[in-house]
Amino acid sequence: MPLPAQMDAARRRGNVMRANGIDAELFDRAGVMRRIPYLDYSQNARFPIHGAIYQGRTGTARHDAVAWGYARGADRHCVDLIQQCEVVGYIWDKDRIVGVETTRGPIRAKKVALAVAGHTGHLAAKAGLRLPVETHVLQAFVTEPLKPLVDSVISFGAAQFYISQSDKGGLVLGGDLDGFNSYTQRGGLPIVEQTLHSTKALMPSLSRLRLLRHWAGVMDMSMDGSPIIGKMPFEGLWLKGGWCYGGFKATPASSYCFAWTIAKDEPHPDNSEFKLEGFERGYQIDEKGVGPQPNAH
Ligand SMILES: Cc1cc2nc3c(=O)[nH]c(=O)nc-3n(C[C@H](O)[C@H](O)[C@H](O)COP(=O)(O)OP(=O)(O)OC[C@H]3O[C@@H](n4cnc5c(N)ncnc54)[C@H](O)[C@@H]3O)c2cc1C
Repeated sequence: MPLPAQMDAARRRGNVMRANGIDAELFDRAGVMRRIPYLDYSQNARFPIHGAIYQGRTGTARHDAVAWGYARGADRHCVDLIQQCEVVGYIWDKDRIVGVETTRGPIRAKKVALAVAGHTGHLAAKAGLRLPVETHVLQAFVTEPLKPLVDSVISFGAAQFYISQSDKGGLVLGGDLDGFNSYTQRGGLPIVEQTLHSTKALMPSLSRLRLLRHWAGVMDMSMDGSPIIGKMPFEGLWLKGGWCYGGFKATPASSYCFAWTIAKDEPHPDNSEFKLEGFERGYQIDEKGVGPQPNAH
């Protein structure tokens, strides 16, 4: 992919960094001040800013609009989308899965694909499987709207924290996992406090801004922080899960690979390493190097 003009300029200045083929620019303190003048650069800053890594090709997408787009696209390709229909069990033919039991009746299928994020462990358990995933809660927050201020995603190394601005002007904030296993989809107050502390530490000018809403979603955190894409240990069931909190951006590519894997009954080369069997041998794809600790990814 050709680098945009700003990256070419950065390359000429000699401050482009590359890890895993991803371009990033290293800013010193003056560079950060030029790019993001509204952070706390004062002598008393809780976390003094010495520099930053800038990735100029990134962006944000409105997640619900993306989901609607997928739904419309699937519908155009004759996929039946059945809403308000919970899978409560599986239909077996000897040791093979041949459909699902749902709250709206049975649905038979030659192949069943599980892609239920935070409910992965729960639905795998209904098939008698205990997977190497834990369900954790992750919160996000939206403030009252402001005029355009934040034109990129800013994150903060001292705590897990990010901030961006939505099209409607609200600042979107997020922090760390709540840190304990839960299916509640309601956030705990310690992370509310930590996220708002981080906001204020980084951008004191926001201290009087009011939160409009916050919510929490359930994440299927895998042991090594990598997803699992492949066949389950018996016929008829495939899994795409263990996305931790990175499944949104990965969806187009990973779903392509998942569809390939199901259709051909063999993994696509790009997901061949992300298999369940690896965990039996202790083989882990430890992309972040934080070890087998689901709530640390
Ligand atoms: C606050 C927050 C911030 C995030 N930020 C980012 C980010 O910045 N970047 C990023 O890449 N990712 C992010 N994520 C993670 C991302 O949202 C997930 O990884 C991604 O949505 C997983 O996609 P999925 O299709 O596997 O599951 P989902 O999108 O969760 O879809 C699973 C679906 O399965 C349904 N389901 C569950 N159980 C059943 C059942 N028994 N029967 C029928 N249906 C069922 C659910 O209702 C849901 O509709 C964030 C998540 C949260 C909560």
